[in-house]
Amino acid sequence: MAELEGLEFGKSDFVLLDEVNMEQFMENLKLRFEKARIYTFIGEVVVSVNPYKQMDIYGKEAIDAYRGRELYENPPHLYAVADAAYKAMKRRAKDTCIVISGESGAGKTEASKYIMQYIAAITNPSQRAEVESVKNVLLKSNCVLEAFGNAKTNRNDNSSRFGKYMDINFNFNGDPTGGHINNYLLEKRDIHSPSLFYSMIGFSKEEIDSIYRILGTILILGNLQFETDSESVQVVGSEAVSHIAGLTTTEPDNVTKSLLYRTVATGGGEVIEKGHTEKEACFGRDAFAKALYERLFCWIVARINAVIEVKDYNPVLHGKNTVIGVLDIYGFEIFDNNSFEQFCINYCNEKLQQLFIELILRQEQDEYQREGITWRHIDYFNNQIIVDLVEQPHKGIISVLDEACLTVGKVTDTICLESMDAKLGQHPHYTSRKLTPSDKTMEFHRDFRIRHYAGDVTYSVEGFLDKNKDPLFQDFKRLMYNSSNPVLKEMWPDGQLSITEVTKRPLTAATLFKNSIVALVDKLGCKEPYYVRCIKPNEMKSPVLFDDARCQHQVAYLGLLENVRVRRAGFAYRQPYARFLQRYKMTCEYTWPNHLMETDREAVEAIVTQHGFQDDVAYGHTKLFVRTPRSLFTLEQERAAL
Ligand code: ATP
Ligand code: MG
Repeated sequence: MAELEGLEFGKSDFVLLDEVNMEQFMENLKLRFEKARIYTFIGEVVVSVNPYKQMDIYGKEAIDAYRGRELYENPPHLYAVADAAYKAMKRRAKDTCIVISGESGAGKTEASKYIMQYIAAITNPSQRAEVESVKNVLLKSNCVLEAFGNAKTNRNDNSSRFGKYMDINFNFNGDPTGGHINNYLLEKRDIHSPSLFYSMIGFSKEEIDSIYRILGTILILGNLQFETDSESVQVVGSEAVSHIAGLTTTEPDNVTKSLLYRTVATGGGEVIEKGHTEKEACFGRDAFAKALYERLFCWIVARINAVIEVKDYNPVLHGKNTVIGVLDIYGFEIFDNNSFEQFCINYCNEKLQQLFIELILRQEQDEYQREGITWRHIDYFNNQIIVDLVEQPHKGIISVLDEACLTVGKVTDTICLESMDAKLGQHPHYTSRKLTPSDKTMEFHRDFRIRHYAGDVTYSVEGFLDKNKDPLFQDFKRLMYNSSNPVLKEMWPDGQLSITEVTKRPLTAATLFKNSIVALVDKLGCKEPYYVRCIKPNEMKSPVLFDDARCQHQVAYLGLLENVRVRRAGFAYRQPYARFLQRYKMTCEYTWPNHLMETDREAVEAIVTQHGFQDDVAYGHTKLFVRTPRSLFTLEQERAAL
């Protein structure tokens, strides 16, 4: 067992702070970072600070120390949460999930990799070949996606997209049988060229060839220019078009046409071809390049899923199939200038917070009832009202946005803001400069503000409408669908629709996003959750710098103080009587080596009383409930000293 840490490293659980306030929280976080203690608990939640240097804490020795242990028996670590999730899954046949959140560069993806590696290391002790091969494919699929999906941004050299959720399936033995990946795209950034990947799982030669052809097309589109001569718009140079036609196996004339014209249905049902302005042509080209990339990415994810999905699972033969889900997702984002992307990300975090509240509190309540313990009301802020502000049908922000996007005629961002003001002006969590003229921190025609659970965020409405529309002209979809390359054709099934068949009301980006988040929350909602909260210590990728202001922001936006409060209000730890007794009986003369009392519960009472923390516990039907971990900490120390 790893040594429990001394107090010179700060408090290993924020629940142990003398007082719960920002100052004490930050002091402890900083001290621990400086002492190279990058993990700290809040009960079962792990707070992680990116060390920006290789740490010698992930090896085999560490894995052995955490394997099968209780959370408080070891110093805080990702492995402790991974093990808790695994134990719940294996011992109690519960589906569990590990939610890893934090801002870009905070260390989410690294954390998810360590968690996956830990699970891989502790499963399949008998080294059965078929299980080993499943594990290999799961770990490898993660690498393929990363090689493909990641980009170097100014905030992270190896930045993932906005979110990834991976289910790992297990059989009744607790060995992995397969998995499934969902990717959450929110890619409005510039297209990047993905690093090449060689170890692809199960792709045919034709498919790999097609992938490179699509990537080639994207690169050419990135350099393709237009010029306007005597009223008409042209593509500069002829090689680009023939090059694209060659790569996508389409007709050069059709490529040119898709780049320069769009087919529109007039009010009278007539179909005409309308020439682009130079600006429209550029817009169309960029949307095409992005769509090519996104569809390729989704297609690769689908292919990986086909490879890793559980095969030949027979519940009668194999018992219940359980799942551990790992979610790697952006936390709350607040920049100087917040736009549509931050709006979506922050909405997603409201949903996750809502789930957190529901699950944690519901879980607590259920358990207290089962155990016959008096339920103490926990005072917390329920953010459902903010979720409604964003997603409510007909009234919420997304619905106002969608309406504006679907209105025929010139609706501008400013007009859209006015209609939000009109519909949401009374909402306690919404405001704008027009509604509060004295507030000079917002711009009159541009900004609106949401009071999120994690703090106020001012969004600039500029660009909201364009980003919310499906920007891709049907002509490009048809062009790709008509490719003689079957892989490409497969990616563009909607290209077979003629312009009059195309649905009048395509789903907007915000609605698609909302639907995917609702589905995600549904998936998580039926699992037992574990949390990792990642913090980025500075903007310089430095292993020694702790930027107080930046860290404090993140602590606030991750809602960590609230988290500590909720945790302290309830019971931090609980143990079945027999198990508690087994572990601590040597610390009490009445229970060592065996007790003579009638029940284990009475024996546990003797231990608790002897150590003087009877005011810190409650006795359930089958379990002892301990309010603060301090009591257990004392017991652990005493046990270690014997
Ligand atoms: P994004 O949201 O942009 O994908 P992220 O939160 O996934 O960001 P990571 O890619 O996990 O961030 O981490 C960024 C970098 O920080 C890593 O490439 C690595 O250099 C460093 N890092 C993160 N966690 C650790 C760790 N536990 N040990 C050592 N280095 C780390
Ligand atoms: Mg990442």
